Amino acid sequence: MKKNLQRIIQVAFLVIFLILVVMGKPQIWMGLFLIGIIASFFLGRIYCGWFCSINTVLKGVTWFKKKLHIKNRKLPTLLTKPWVRFLVLGLFIIMFIFTMVSGKKLPVLPILFTTGIILTFFFHEELWHRYLCPYGSILYLPGSKSAHNIYIDPEKCTNCGACRKVCPSKAIEKQEKNHEIIKGECLVCTECITTCKQQAISYK
Ligand code: SF4
Ligand code: SF4
Repeated sequence: MKKNLQRIIQVAFLVIFLILVVMGKPQIWMGLFLIGIIASFFLGRIYCGWFCSINTVLKGVTWFKKKLHIKNRKLPTLLTKPWVRFLVLGLFIIMFIFTMVSGKKLPVLPILFTTGIILTFFFHEELWHRYLCPYGSILYLPGSKSAHNIYIDPEKCTNCGACRKVCPSKAIEKQEKNHEIIKGECLVCTECITTCKQQAISYK
């Protein structure tokens, strides 16, 4: 039921995003993102897991790849370096400020959208979510400090690793006795909650 609601919300916001792009007003989307930043201090990165149009399409790309048995390539080491994340974020901020100051329209969001899709066609979604997406980089800090988030109960976790396999941002790490979630990297997509047979994972 919750999953269906999530899918409906995701598709609805994808449609809104596409309408804004067609109308030449993708900057309105930034208003939604600002709300997402504020919300992430309290609710974790729900913008990513429930409203982000790029994430919704990437889910579709991953589904399509699974159907066609297309295997992920090894993540390019260069693109996983921390400075690349900061570089992409810096360019994004510069382009955003330039757009605001000059009034000129740069297709920042469509460029991000297309880049995410192309990369995810070849590599695991993790590359985009965890290493490149500038929105994700901005939300990392508030997400890691948020009042509510996804948690694994160490008492219930059997360390089977099923949750890590389905996590799109590989935000779950294996520890000695149980798995743990890296809060800042978690998209609050809830895939792990529905996967864990021990019911060890919850949002609280
Ligand atoms: S799926 Fe559940 S039991 Fe398995 S590692 Fe993840 S939290 Fe632990
Ligand atoms: S699968 Fe779980 S840990 Fe991974 S991003 Fe989704 S909610 Fe977060």
